[in-house]
Amino acid sequence: MSIIDDLIGLQEEAEELHKLVVQIRERIHRMLYQEWCKWTHDDERCWKTECGAAICFKDGGPAENRQKYCYHCGRIIEVVPAREEDVDNDCD
Ligand SMILES: [Zn+2]
Repeated sequence: MSIIDDLIGLQEEAEELHKLVVQIRERIHRMLYQEWCKWTHDDERCWKTECGAAICFKDGGPAENRQKYCYHCGRIIEVVPAREEDVDNDCD
């Protein structure tokens, strides 16, 4: 394999890396500028995300499950309360 082939290979790798860097940079930008993904309480266990996913927890909501970022779009989660206040009265 010649040096030219090595260089071409390196250039291709660099182009792939550049694409990744661009994607990561966009993601970081969204986080830094604090664009939020609104999570709406859908039913007892499930939340509808602004970016179009449905996420269900076994217990509690995003905060109780230590979810800060939407795992669908990577933005910070903003919890939108349910229409009726969900009073936590589960004393057995
Ligand atoms: Zn999202």
